[in-house]
Amino acid sequence: MTVRLGIDIGATSIKYGVIDNEGRILFADRAPTRGADGQKAVLDGIVACARRMVEWCSNAGHAPETVGIGSPGTINPHTRRVQPPTPNLKAIIGIDLAGLVRSALGLPTVIDNDANCAAWAEHRFGAGRGIDNLICLTVGSGIGSGFIVDGRIFSGHSGSGAELGHVSIDWQGGSCPCGSRGCLENYTSAIALMRRASEAANREPSSELSKLRDGPGGSVSIAGLFDAAHAGDRTARSILDEAALQFAIGVLGAINLFDPEAIIIGGGVADADSQGLWLTAIRDNIHRHAFSVSGKSIPVGKAALGNDAGFIGAAALPQE
Ligand SMILES: [Zn+2]
Repeated sequence: MTVRLGIDIGATSIKYGVIDNEGRILFADRAPTRGADGQKAVLDGIVACARRMVEWCSNAGHAPETVGIGSPGTINPHTRRVQPPTPNLKAIIGIDLAGLVRSALGLPTVIDNDANCAAWAEHRFGAGRGIDNLICLTVGSGIGSGFIVDGRIFSGHSGSGAELGHVSIDWQGGSCPCGSRGCLENYTSAIALMRRASEAANREPSSELSKLRDGPGGSVSIAGLFDAAHAGDRTARSILDEAALQFAIGVLGAINLFDPEAIIIGGGVADADSQGLWLTAIRDNIHRHAFSVSGKSIPVGKAALGNDAGFIGAAALPQE
């Protein structure tokens, strides 16, 4: 059986797994990234994960064909080294991770941005299977996005394309660490939503939201925000309604530019939206405000592969 190895490097953990040709997970595990322990610890950890998969394959009687790596930051298309910014994992900047794993294992190894890998996984095996023009967003502590254009990952001239989290929805908005103002990520990421919910809870002590704080003046979790909204709390609903409109306006810029066939949304915020309340509001706003006939009826759905999308997509990346 043909099997491939995938590694998804995150700020806190490295998720990795062995998949078959259909994207089925045969083996998966995770290890701490150890970013605080310095560069050697991080790089040794990545190689150790790769070796662990090779060992598993050997015991299971599989010969792995290739390795793929999903990485934070962007990948220089010429040198294949990780480019900044990677604010939560500086140890990998400037490193040729694919070269490192290739020389350790002796297997063909490729690398791409983690959000691109997640989009590729959904395109090959998940909610976007068979769809050649696709935008996939991962809404977690930040907002990652991957664009599949004509069946290929779109990375742009320098590997930095398709960064929807840093498309501005307000030229007068607050400064973003990226250098711009009013970036989408500052309004609708998990961190931004928690901040908005916590501020509202402090302002309105009688709201349902306020009861979900972790102590007086404390913060509200994403699960708490959705729980309050599901229970009918008007403050929670209005935060999610406004965030859905803001998210839709950001995504509409990409829809009007790229004319995709579908939008897929995953990540921690999408997962917390168990009743599809936020997703439905996003879909309605996109359909209401889209420019094209196609955009006014574009499918907007939930990602299918969850936290595994990163390593599945990495494993399935086309080899260069
Ligand atoms: Zn930004």
